[in-house]
Amino acid sequence: MATHKLFLLPGDGIGPEVMAEVVKVADWLGKEGIASFETETGLVGGAAYDAHGVAISESDMALAMACDAVIFGAVGGPKWDSVPYDARPEAGLLRLRKDLKLFANLRPAICYPALADASSLKREIVEGLDIMIVRELTGGVYFGEPKEIIDLGNGQKRGIDTQVYDTYEIERIGRVAFELARKRGNKVTSSEKRNVMKSGVLWHEVISALHKREYADVQLDHMLADALGMQLVRWPKQFDVIVTDNLFGDMLSDVASMLTGSLGMLPSASLGEADPLTGKRKAMYEPVHGSAPDIAGKGLANPIAMIGSLGMALRYSFGLGEAADMVDAAIAHVLESGMRTADIKGDATSTVSTVEMGDAIVAALGKTKV
Ligand code: NAD
Repeated sequence: MATHKLFLLPGDGIGPEVMAEVVKVADWLGKEGIASFETETGLVGGAAYDAHGVAISESDMALAMACDAVIFGAVGGPKWDSVPYDARPEAGLLRLRKDLKLFANLRPAICYPALADASSLKREIVEGLDIMIVRELTGGVYFGEPKEIIDLGNGQKRGIDTQVYDTYEIERIGRVAFELARKRGNKVTSSEKRNVMKSGVLWHEVISALHKREYADVQLDHMLADALGMQLVRWPKQFDVIVTDNLFGDMLSDVASMLTGSLGMLPSASLGEADPLTGKRKAMYEPVHGSAPDIAGKGLANPIAMIGSLGMALRYSFGLGEAADMVDAAIAHVLESGMRTADIKGDATSTVSTVEMGDAIVAALGKTKV
């Protein structure tokens, strides 16, 4: 069995608390002979600043570059609000995304039936929801140049951001979406604003050509980003895989996240280019939530987003789809049993701690073992 190198970066706040539960799941998978991991742990964010005066050290960056998958907790907190800009906790996260060239951000929005009432939408709209938003992460308006504020000299200033995409950037994110769709519901919805943006015209053209050339077996729809936002809250189950640019993906994936109940439930994956020789991709897996300083150290954090992120690593970095299914099934099983952390309490009369939820998921893994 291949041994997979995991580099754990717990970070700040609740990061180390939820990472401890991931370690239990990884240990269980190892003990059962389902997966073999070699793990190293590093510092990122405020924790790295306190130890080294930077948001991530060069030696930890080297480990991140050399591992098979980075498992990232969360960074930030009021303690580091006034550190120098370049050393702020988020700089560690941005450095990892940039140096690992993580251009594809995968955010699943899954609504477990047991949690359908935690959504702000009606049960029948969200129950059983399972969509995947594929967001382009390294291009578009967040990075395009020129990006500046100009003083016009007449008491006015001008703020400029540039939305820019090249063919290769659209093609490679399109490929990720089509490949994913083939393993799911076989449907991709591509979204842009070609009615008002030239980059949208090119996006539509490139995705359509790629589809025709290489993925004609996958159903492809196009939807303007504003219409897609509306459809996400009207009837989200019509979607399977949504592929969109950095800006629209940022907003649409946050809308989709609210369909599922709590931030504590949402995992994510960020993938780089496939190595032409090995086919392996650089990858980082992290919960969507932040370091939650308001509940840090109290044993209140929900570890499901973090454990789900390890599940995504099993699926997308290690080709261990069955093991990933087991992790998902264990989470669903625990939720069906009525066990709740405080953030997903709903009508439950009692709640469990981070550690109790992690232990219950490990125990359920034994029961759901395939
Ligand atoms: P947050 O996601 O940390 O918290 C928002 C709310 O959700 C809080 O009430 C928190 O208690 C709750 N919450 C989040 N995760 C939870 C979990 N697993 N279980 C239970 N409840 C959970 O966002 P915020 O409060 O805006 O930011 C706090 C800090 O985190 C800031 O320093 C911010 O910069 C940082 N942040 C980091 C990341 C990251 O590391 N990727 C992402 C977002 C925010």
